[in-house]
Parts: sequence; C-alpha cells; structure tokens
Amino acid sequence: MAKTQVRTLDLNFRGRPEAIASYLLEHSSGAVLVESGPASTLESLKSRLSELGMTLKDVTHVLVTHIHLDHSGAAGWLAQAGAQVFVHPVGAPHLINPEKLLASAGRIYGDMMAELWGETIPVPAEKVTVVQDTEEIVIGSLRFVALDTPGHAEHHYAYLLDDICFTGDIGGVRIPGPPFIRLPMPPPELHLEKWRRSLQRLRMLSFDRIAPTHFGIFTDVGWHLETAEKLLDAVESWLINRMVNAVTDETFRDELLAWYRQQAAASGLPDSVINTFEVANPSGMSADGLLRYWRKYRE
Ligand SMILES: [Zn+2]
Repeated sequence: MAKTQVRTLDLNFRGRPEAIASYLLEHSSGAVLVESGPASTLESLKSRLSELGMTLKDVTHVLVTHIHLDHSGAAGWLAQAGAQVFVHPVGAPHLINPEKLLASAGRIYGDMMAELWGETIPVPAEKVTVVQDTEEIVIGSLRFVALDTPGHAEHHYAYLLDDICFTGDIGGVRIPGPPFIRLPMPPPELHLEKWRRSLQRLRMLSFDRIAPTHFGIFTDVGWHLETAEKLLDAVESWLINRMVNAVTDETFRDELLAWYRQQAAASGLPDSVINTFEVANPSGMSADGLLRYWRKYRE
C-alpha cells in the first residue's frame, strides 16, 4: 500500500509539546491539513508552516474530524486565508455559525475560554464542504475516505488515506511514551455503544498507521484499537459500579480522577506525560460526559 508522506505539526497547545497535532499533506498546488487546531494556536500553526516554507495561504483544504474547538477552532482563519473546509453534515452548521458551539464550550470552560481557545471566527458557508459517510475527497493525488464514527460526538469522522487513518478523538488520546490510551468523554453527545461500533468499524479496515489528533502517528494499529475497545468496556463497568453505589457527582469526579491516575501510574507514565493527558483531555470533562450519558440513556 502507498505510504503517503504525512507531517505532524505540533501546535504546542498551552506551551505543551505533543498535546494537539495538525497533520499536513502536500499536493501539487499546496497543502491539506487534517485538523486546524484551535484558534489559540494559530500562531504556532503559522510557525510550523513557515518552517516548511509555507504560509496559511498555501493551505488549500482543511479536513476536520469534528467540530470540538481543539480540532476545528482555527478553521475560520484558514478559510479567510482561502482554504476550503470539509466537515460532517451535523458539524457544518456550527462552523458557519459557531454561537451555540461557543456557548456549549463556555459551560464547560467558563472564564478560561479565551485563554484556551482564542478567537473562534465563523467559516463562510461557501467555504464549507459537507461530506457524506464513505464519500471520497480527492485532492490532487490524495484520496481521503470519510468514515462516520460517532460515540465521542455525533459530528465525528475518521479519515482514511491509503495506509493511514486520522482518528480525531474516536481512537482515544495517546501521547508518545509508554503505550497508554485514554478516551476523552465530553458531554453532551458521549455514547458508549456508538463508540464501540465506531471502533469495530475501524477494526474492519486495513491500515498500517493510526494518527489520533492527541498525538502523533503510531504503527501498532491492532494493539491501539484493541486497547481502546477494552478501555470502553472498563469505563462502562466502572460507570455501572459507581452508579449502583449512588455516589454524588463530586465523589464521582474525584473517583474518576483517582482511577485515571492509578491506571497511568500502573503503566509507568512519567508525571509530565500524565499532565499532558490532563491538558489534552481534562478528567473533569469526562466525568461530566459520563454522568450526562448515564442520565440520558441508561438511568
Ligand atoms: Zn473532541
């Protein structure tokens, strides 16, 4: 299978390396980015591009896996510089009018919004291309296939290109270092059964490299997907157990953090990596996502 050259651009989110990536692929008349990163890392993105002799104007296409701000927040700026933005049908309206998306993020992040995510601007409607499930996106000699992969969010795609799959958040978060994966589980659309089906869908495909947005390109695809599926099972059992014991929301949050720390320590992760996981994927957010999921679908 063709091995397409993919560059990992480190957006240095909050001054941390290896937290949020944007993936760059060159074609005959410019470059494609998979993920724009948030608006807050636009300057880092420009720096990474200039190291390659490029500017924002060289980016002709942006494929976002989903519209969470750490993946798509800078898309409006890239569109302003000329790029066409490709997105899931459910996410498209929120790129064009980000008001509701920002209000929803505001409920999670409060007065940290500007510092974390910068200034998110709309993507003009004519700069948005809505992509359907299994649709092929052909850019020069690059052929991406969009794969509907809900569970983390309803508006989530993974993009398959030759031997590599860009998994956004559906394959979990994996920071380079000792092999360790965590599933980011934000409200309000977290859905464990849909997530399991999405992982099974990815497992049926054949690719040699997996590229989660958080962070980097890994070649042990089988281990990665199997571990993510096992984690989903573990989270579900843990959740049922907590709910049977009717713990308070506050205790639930504390216990999830403790459980995460214990798993991370057991894997031999250094503190710096554990902290990067918290930056990329705060455990409080996953606690809220799990509680909301339980009340909406399971209670
Ligand atoms: Zn996400």
